[in-house]
Amino acid sequence: MNRFPSLRRASRRSALFACALLAQYWLAPAAFAYTRDFILPASGGCPVVERQNFAIGAAPLPIQWSTSLPNLNPPAILTAAAPGTAAQLAEIGSTIAQTYAIWTGVSGTLVNASSYPNALAPLAITSTQNACSSDPVNGIPNNVDGIDTICFNQSSSAFTTGVLSFTRIVVANAPSQSFGSAPASIFAGQIVDADIYFRNDGQATFATPAALSSNPGAYDLESLLAHELGHLFGLDHSGVWRAIMFPYAPPPGSFLATRPTASAPDAPLSDDDRAGLRSLYPDPADTIDIGWISGRVLPANPFALADFPATSAGEYVTGIFGAQVVAVDASSGSVIAATLGGWTCDPANPPAQFDGSYTLGPLPVGHSYVIYAEPFVGLVQASDIAGAFAGVCATGASPSCTVPAVNTNFVPRVRP
Ligand SMILES: [Zn+2]
Repeated sequence: MNRFPSLRRASRRSALFACALLAQYWLAPAAFAYTRDFILPASGGCPVVERQNFAIGAAPLPIQWSTSLPNLNPPAILTAAAPGTAAQLAEIGSTIAQTYAIWTGVSGTLVNASSYPNALAPLAITSTQNACSSDPVNGIPNNVDGIDTICFNQSSSAFTTGVLSFTRIVVANAPSQSFGSAPASIFAGQIVDADIYFRNDGQATFATPAALSSNPGAYDLESLLAHELGHLFGLDHSGVWRAIMFPYAPPPGSFLATRPTASAPDAPLSDDDRAGLRSLYPDPADTIDIGWISGRVLPANPFALADFPATSAGEYVTGIFGAQVVAVDASSGSVIAATLGGWTCDPANPPAQFDGSYTLGPLPVGHSYVIYAEPFVGLVQASDIAGAFAGVCATGASPSCTVPAVNTNFVPRVRP
C-alpha cells in the first residue's frame, strides 16, 4: 500500500518538506486530525507552528502559475478548450483561481477575502518553465524566490512512484533569514516559499472540472490543487475521511467532495480542514469559531507508560503521546475537528513536555461536543504522522529533548 512519504527536513536554518499526494486510496481510516508542523526556533525555547505571514498589514502573498505546459501527447493537463490555445490557458487559470477561493472562502480566518481582502496578491502568470524552486542541494532548494508558484512542467526527483503532486516548503527558524531572492523572514516558523509541482512525465493526467467527465482516466485538477494549497497555507495531512488534506487522491475521473459554488466557495472542504486553517490564521473579528477544549490523555496507571520514568536523557513522558483526540458535534454526529495530542511547552520552562496534553479547536461555540481519544492502529499508522512531531525537538538545541515513540498501546474506554 502506498503511504505518503515521511516529511523531510534539512539544515538548521530551514525546514524543507515535500508533501506528496499519492494515487489513490480513499478508504476510511480511524478519524484523526488536521495537523500542523512545528519548528524549533534557532534561539531555542518552545516549538512554533509553521505558517505564512498573513498578519494584517503584511504585504500580500505573491502567487503565480507557470503557463509552461508539458509537451506530451496526450497532454498532461486536459481542458475543455483545445490544447495550445489561449482559451486553454484561461480555463486552467480560472480553475486555479477557483481553487484558491476554496480556501479563501473559509470564514473566520485572515485568509478570508471579506475580512482581510489583501492576504493574497492577484494570481499572476509566468511563462518561465522551471519557475518553482529546484531540487535541494545540501538540503537547501535552489532558486527560492518567495513567490508561491504552481508548476505543471518542472521535473523533480521527488516524483517517485505514485506521487501525483507535491508542495515544497521552505521555513525560516528565525527572523531576518534570507533564502535565495525571497524577502527576509519576519518571524521564526514563517513559510518563506511554497511551490506546487504536478507530475509531468506522462505517468498521470489532470483534468479541469469542465474536462473531467470526458476524461475518466485523469485526476481532478481542482481536488489535487486544493490539497496542495492546504500545504501552501501550512497544513499537514489529515486522516479525516473526505478531508481535502487526506493524503490520498480520489480515483481518476472523480471528485468526491462537493464542487464549490459562488455562495459556498469552501464547499469541498471538511470541517476539519476549516478548523486547521482557522487555527493557523484566526481572524480576531471572528465571534463564532472561538471555542477550545484542552486536557490530557492519561493512562489509568502511569507505570503503563513505556517511558515512565524517562528512559533516556531529555525525554519526559508523563502521558499518552500521539493519541488522536476528536471533537464530534453531539447533535449532528459530525467530526468537527481533531488534533494530535501528546505534548505541551511552557515558554518559561522549555523544552517540550510529553505529558499527553491536547488543545482542540477552534470549535464553533454554542454546540455540545463529545470528545474521544484513540490510538493510531488503523489505516493511518503512527509513521504517517511523524512529520507533525519532527520539529518539536531539534538536534543541538538547548535544553535538549527527544520526541518519544507514538503510543499505540492503549485501549480507550467510554466512561458511562
Ligand atoms: Zn499532501
